[in-house]
Order: sequence, then C-alpha cells, then structure tokens
Amino acid sequence: FIGEYKAPQDLLKGKVILVTGAGDGIGKTAAKTFAAHGATVILLGRTTAKLEMVYDEIEAAGGPQPAIFPMDLNEARIETFEHFAEAVDQEFGRLDGLLHNASLLGQRTPIANYHFGTWQQVMQVNVNAAFGLTKTLLPLLEKSEAGSIVFTSSSVGLKGRAYWGAYSVSKFATEGLMQVLADELDGVSNVRANSINPGATRTNMRAAAYPAEDPQTVTAPEAIMPTYLYLMGDDSRGVSGKQFNAQGS
Ligand code: NDP
Repeated sequence: FIGEYKAPQDLLKGKVILVTGAGDGIGKTAAKTFAAHGATVILLGRTTAKLEMVYDEIEAAGGPQPAIFPMDLNEARIETFEHFAEAVDQEFGRLDGLLHNASLLGQRTPIANYHFGTWQQVMQVNVNAAFGLTKTLLPLLEKSEAGSIVFTSSSVGLKGRAYWGAYSVSKFATEGLMQVLADELDGVSNVRANSINPGATRTNMRAAAYPAEDPQTVTAPEAIMPTYLYLMGDDSRGVSGKQFNAQGS
C-alpha cells in the first residue's frame, strides 16, 4: 500500500516542483514536505500573504529557497499560463513535478438550483486551469529526466453524489484529463501522469463541506504525504495513468 511508502530524506533533491493552491490545506503541507525532501518548490496560489508564510516556513526549516507566483486561477487566461511557463523556463529551464492541487468546492445544492456562474468558476479553477497549466508546462516537464504530473481527484469524482454539483463533475473531468494525457504520453515521453484521491483530510475545504464534523476526528494533511512523495519521486518512474487513494480504499 503506497500510503505507507517511506521516502528517503533526499528523495526530491535537485527537483523543481510546482504546487498549485500552495498557501493552505493539503497544498501547503505538500509544498513544505517536498521542500523537506530537497525540492525547490514553486508556490502558486491566489493569496500572496499565505504563500509568503509558506515561503518563510520552508526557509526557516532550512529547505531550498522556494519561488512564489501569485495567480488567481479563476481569472487566468491562456496568456497568463504562457507567461508563467516562460518565467519558469527562465528561472529553472525545466520542471520535474507538477501538483494540480488548487480547487474550489462551490455550492452544495441540487443541480436544479445550482448557480450558473458558480458552476463556471468551479470548472474554470478545477479543470480549465489544470488543462492550461498542463498544456503550457508540458514542454518544460519534457526537459526533466522523468517529469511527474499529479492531479487531485476525490471520491465524488469516481461516483456521483447528490448535491455535490460542479465539484463532483470537475473531479470526473480531472480523472479524464489525467487518463487522456497518460495515454498520450505512454511510450513516447518520460513524463507520467497520475491522480490522488486524498480522502477526508483536515482542511478549510473539508470544514466547509462538513460543518458539523469535529475537525480533530479527520486525518491531518501530514498523514497523507507518503502517496504524494511516492508519485513525485523516482520510485514511481514508469507508473502512469493510475488513480491512488492516499488513505487506502
Ligand atoms: P483548501 O480549500 O484548504 O485549499 C485549497 C487551496 O487552493 C487554497 O490554498 C486556495 O487558495 C487555493 N485556491 C482556491 N481557488 C484558487 C484560485 N482561484 N486560484 C488559485 N488558488 C486557488 O482545500 P484542500 O487542501 O482541502 O484541497 C486540496 C485538494 O484536495 C483539492 O483539489 C480538493 O478538491 C482535494 N480534496 C480534498 C479533500 C479533503 O478532505 N480536504 C478530499 C478530497 C479531495 P486560498 O488559500 O487563497 O483560498
């Protein structure tokens, strides 16, 4: 079970890894964990102050100096992603890992009531932005010896559930994007693509989705990191097109 993977301390030494939604929740913990295993992380998110805090925590822990790139994925256009890819190219010349983590929960309401604008925002952040970043960063991932793209899905991305609306649909689309991409890369590229279902994890999003739940009963983000490390590190070379459940099934 990959959730019990034990990563060597220098697993990600020398790697450059982009984390979206790196200012909070699972993305914040992933960025700090990757840095603690030697990676130079690029912190992308919409709230600069949160990204700066993660930056400071990584520096204080003695990790490689990160890079910060504030971006509101809801506002981003293809030119935004092209400009970002150029900046990454100039700074690093390649990309070894890409964690698509940023997501919006949207509304919890029946389809008949779902607000059209909210639907579009959720699809924009959760799906369209992941496509735009993947498309524009793929040439830089191809420059890595073994690039790894990790998408973040959810149990409602495998089986639809009432009232989960655009979020559920966006996670089905995320799985689809991962599978189409992995099939295209198979046999012709050193880049691999997989997805992680984190399972119930103690974050703001989880608290928003389950307001009556005691957060202390929910798994902390730190506990799901073995799967993230496995997929970003070289032990998963050659593994592609798969969905991983970070807390087992
Ligand atoms: P959080 O809401 O705690 O964190 C999401 C992060 O994404 C935040 O840092 C947020 O920025 C960022 N983000 C949201 N919208 C945008 C945007 N428009 N532009 C840029 N960044 C944005 O969520 P989690 O950590 O819980 O979720 C992480 C991933 O895991 C998501 O893909 C989620 O769907 C998935 N997941 C989580 C589960 C859980 O139980 N927590 C279960 C299953 C899946 P800001 O901090 O500025 O708001």
